[in-house]
Amino acid sequence: MSIHTVLVTGGAGYIGSHACVELLNSGFNVVVVDNLSNSKATSLDRVKQITGKSVRFYEADIRDKEKLNNIFTKEKPTTVIHFAGLKAVGESCEQPHLYYHNNVFGTLVLTEVMQEHNVKQLVFSSSATVYGITDKTQYSEDLPIGAINPYGRSKAMVEDILRDLAAADSKTKPDKPWKIALLRYFNPIGAHDSGLIGEDPNGIPNNLMPYVAQVAIGKLPQLSVFGDDYPTKDGTGVRDYIHVIDLVKGHISAIHAFNKEQFLSGNCKAYNLGAGHGYSVLDIINTFEKITGKSINYKISPRRNGDLAEYYANPELALKELNWKVEKTLKDMVADTWNWQSKNPQGYQ
Ligand code: NAD
Ligand code: UDP
Repeated sequence: MSIHTVLVTGGAGYIGSHACVELLNSGFNVVVVDNLSNSKATSLDRVKQITGKSVRFYEADIRDKEKLNNIFTKEKPTTVIHFAGLKAVGESCEQPHLYYHNNVFGTLVLTEVMQEHNVKQLVFSSSATVYGITDKTQYSEDLPIGAINPYGRSKAMVEDILRDLAAADSKTKPDKPWKIALLRYFNPIGAHDSGLIGEDPNGIPNNLMPYVAQVAIGKLPQLSVFGDDYPTKDGTGVRDYIHVIDLVKGHISAIHAFNKEQFLSGNCKAYNLGAGHGYSVLDIINTFEKITGKSINYKISPRRNGDLAEYYANPELALKELNWKVEKTLKDMVADTWNWQSKNPQGYQ
């Protein structure tokens, strides 16, 4: 059997670099396209250190159609995993144009080039933020979409575009229709257990886990817990945290599913990637303290604008159709985060 080449956009980033490890370990050739706007190429050297194999790396912006065309001509990928995008909710509210240009226009250029090269298998990084406000705490894929900020809306728009593409093609090109998996991530945390790759946020982290890790290492003085008066088990926000290794394994499962019934005649399907249960902010702090022996200096602060009290995935569809479920525990997530943070206190620098 010939070895498939997977083109990974955003492959130098947090989730992308972990995906490169899993893809190489699963026997795929890997080509990375990344403009390094939120990452460093060092991550790909580390991928080689872990796997003993190299990815082929192109420093390019996915909106540069000519460059992308040349890469597709040269590398002949069969499948694309599309991680490239901007992801900071606050920044997206300040600079919506930047977010729509990068995330939506970038995907239009990418899919146009894919179409021209007859590459029709795509795994897309979507997010649980595409779900609208609901009184449910467990999210199934059939809940209505209704993102509440430009970042979330850029993901929801891309989902719509991809659904339209697949629908149009299944009628006009039944011989080779689009097969698209929209993977809706819940809260990815953790790192590869080698401690060689992990999340390296620019500046002060927005997300809970990297913030806690930087307080533990002494880079930041204190964590603010945003609200302790939510209607949750201890008053703090509850989220479905998922180990980044479990998450990227979901992408490999999606690629394998392209040969299964639900994708045989072309389709665009959304799958939740989450554990199916949540942990509170205090659960995270307590587990971190227990595993690392470090005490986390925190204070209770007002709620953060736009935060919901509690939500977590219904991951049954991914189990049924992708044969995927999380395997790692909260202890694994915390231990691997700490291993990465303590071995790389300044990230990749
Ligand atoms: P990241 O910022 O670490 O990785 C994204 C990568 O894409 C970076 O290496 C960046 O340099 C690159 N990039 C951005 N715009 C590009 C462009 N126009 N051309 C080429 N490269 C570009 O983020 P991540 O956490 O690894 O997230 C990967 C994807 O998963 C993103 O699309 C994000 O929206 C999505 N996602 C992330 C989370 C999360 O919590 N991390 C949750 C849900 C969805
Ligand atoms: N959170 C917090 N302090 C922080 C960052 C986050 O208390 O400095 C809380 C936040 O209110 C939410 C949870 O931690 O309840 C997860 O937030 P994060 O930003 O990591 O992910 P989100 O679910 O908001 O995408």
